[in-house]
Amino acid sequence: MKMETLKTAGIELPRFGLGTWYLGENARKEIDELEALRTGIEMGVTLFDTAEMYGNGGAERLLGKAIKPYDRSKLQIVSKVYPHNAGRNQIFKSCENSLRRLNTEYLDVYLLHWRGSVPFSETVECMEELKAQGKIRAWGVSNLDTDDMEELESVKNGKNCALNQVLYHLGSRGIEYDLLPWTQRRKMPVMTYCPLAQGGRLRRGLLSSSSVKKTAEKYGASPIQILLAFVLYQENTIAIPRSGSACHVKELVDSLRISLTQEDMVLLSKDFPAPTRKTYLDIV
Ligand code: NDP
Repeated sequence: MKMETLKTAGIELPRFGLGTWYLGENARKEIDELEALRTGIEMGVTLFDTAEMYGNGGAERLLGKAIKPYDRSKLQIVSKVYPHNAGRNQIFKSCENSLRRLNTEYLDVYLLHWRGSVPFSETVECMEELKAQGKIRAWGVSNLDTDDMEELESVKNGKNCALNQVLYHLGSRGIEYDLLPWTQRRKMPVMTYCPLAQGGRLRRGLLSSSSVKKTAEKYGASPIQILLAFVLYQENTIAIPRSGSACHVKELVDSLRISLTQEDMVLLSKDFPAPTRKTYLDIV
């Protein structure tokens, strides 16, 4: 599979990866979840998203196991620090713990999970130190809206932010109004979480809408595959859907063959219009 990539803050990331929220929480599901992640790798997926929060480290542990047989240098691992751990007293220990659970020597990108009470200037200073120590290759943020991004950009080294990870799916298009254009102007990727609207659960009627169904029929695809293609239609986006099933991962990777057209977007926008005014950033 040929994967399109984006360059940012001195690293290169593919536009598609796999998420891990809710994985690694139940020992009885471990075999299936390992198979799902490894199926992704066998099909050419190299990017994985996790966080110290997910399953209290369980998702990082599972991912660490999944990638063990593979060449680490060919993979990109993103993890996140809790806001309350994002200050000088905690972040170095938090990062060390994530590295240990993942059984790796470095993270490709380390994200501030959401904004807390630690000033951006302190978090950025620590992130830059982690970079200098070789513990992370780049750093970024998550769940920051445009005003927060502007503030971040104004602190020392704030412009080194590699990406912003935010919620985006066909049923929640608020970022198209200003956050997405803001990042596109800076060539900063937006890593979109919940690209499948959590299997359609975040927006009633999404998967069964006539526009999604018609588009799916046109491409001989499933509605879920259309949701993924929608997120990747925008410039500068990276999608990180999650699945604990190998069969679903295959379907997700297969959807990379679909490139939606402007005509498709017009149809989808009839049921799920693009924003015409500022709305606050959606979160889960
Ligand atoms: P997604 O939008 O990726 O949806 C996941 C759901 O979709 C699961 O229930 C999964 O079920 C289902 N699914 C996946 N593939 C298929 C398929 N082919 N057919 C039918 N159903 C399918 O939700 P997430 O919330 O997991 O978001 C993706 C990732 O983004 C997370 O895992 C996490 O890494 C990150 N994230 C980051 C946040 C942040 O604050 N920074 C917040 C939320 C998520 P099944 O397992 O059965 O396939």
